[in-house]
Amino acid sequence: MSAPHPHSRADGDGAPDWARVRAGFPLLERQVHGKPLVYFDNANTGQKPAAVIEAVDDFYRRHNANVSRAVHALGTEATESYEGARAKLARFLNVRGDELVLCSGTTFALNLVAYSWALPRLEAGDAILVSRMEHHANIVPWQLVAARTGATVRVAEITPDGALDLDALRAAMTPEVKLLAVTHVSNVLGTVNPVREICREARRRGIVTVVDGSQAAPHRRIDVAAIGCDFYAITGHKMCGPTGTGALWARREHLLAMPPFIGGGEMIKEVSFDGTVFNDPPHKFEAGTPNIAGFVGLGAAVDYLDALGMEHVEAREAELLAHLDEELTRIEGLRIFGTAPDKAAVVSFLIEGAHSHDLATLLDLEGVAVRSGQHCAHPLLQYYGVAATCRASLAFYNTHEEIERFVAALRKVRGLLG
Ligand code: PLP
Repeated sequence: MSAPHPHSRADGDGAPDWARVRAGFPLLERQVHGKPLVYFDNANTGQKPAAVIEAVDDFYRRHNANVSRAVHALGTEATESYEGARAKLARFLNVRGDELVLCSGTTFALNLVAYSWALPRLEAGDAILVSRMEHHANIVPWQLVAARTGATVRVAEITPDGALDLDALRAAMTPEVKLLAVTHVSNVLGTVNPVREICREARRRGIVTVVDGSQAAPHRRIDVAAIGCDFYAITGHKMCGPTGTGALWARREHLLAMPPFIGGGEMIKEVSFDGTVFNDPPHKFEAGTPNIAGFVGLGAAVDYLDALGMEHVEAREAELLAHLDEELTRIEGLRIFGTAPDKAAVVSFLIEGAHSHDLATLLDLEGVAVRSGQHCAHPLLQYYGVAATCRASLAFYNTHEEIERFVAALRKVRGLLG
């Protein structure tokens, strides 16, 4: 029998003691404008537990060296920690480590697919299918590929509640479509897309699938193997890890067939002026010195989330979202964007007569951090006909009391602007 996790309640169902969990996030203790911080900008970036901060600190204090190049003890330790992080992340996503390319985040991961998979393959007459709710990181790389190959980018529309229109999506999967790129969870609407079913349909038609897991991996258990996609991208800083870390999972057959996107050290077996023999995947795609300390931190973040239990994280955030939704429906003139039945704890909203930047600025003065703007999703906001929204995005370490403070601040701000 394994020892109980330090966050477990002695008398509970194994669910973490959320007050103790929160106490492990040093930044959440601080004040902003003389008020206790309410950090509701987790979809933008997440806060870090002490365990992650200490792992990065310990790496630089005791183990710092470059990976793969040194035979000395520190080099071996650094390499083991870096490769250990890959192994932990692979287990976390239920994939093979040799199919997981470590990189700076989802933006890099999606560009890697664009430049190494799509660019050499697509041609005029082909189409890339994306959904209306994609982040720019899952739109712009495809537009760049389209501009260079003559392929087109096709859009699968959503329904007004912010769900994917699955009939329209299916209808758009015509023989010209070679690649489908879709987000697992929308960073604006919170919509959780049925990626397993979508990938099954696409696969049946021979369409290669790319899933953007940036907003999913921090909030629910991800089983990439069960999703059945061809590529799955994640970013570390939204899942308790350091910035500049992330990964692309790809089927081995793709990694073997894809040319490298960036060349340099680490990604080769042999170099001469007659030519270069590339390393095996995933190292073939990891040229140059990586963010070693960052991946040590991401490894610690994965350990941390594993110990909490992603089922507990998901249940906790669902409970917080239900509370937030209930409170927000009582605020007159508040419009929520994204009310799909399967939703993560992300709420985009506007208040009648108030500009979203004014709302966010006044909320900040109350100690509440929310994001205001277009959330790197211009086409989605164009669909709703608005220039910007405010977005409150929660994480497991947020509290019911913070929701109440946020709602009280919102009422006050609405009074000031009204
Ligand atoms: N995709 C989605 C859905 C996101 O929310 C984000 C970040 O906000 C990204 C991609 C880009 O992630 P990164 O900037 O970490 O590469």
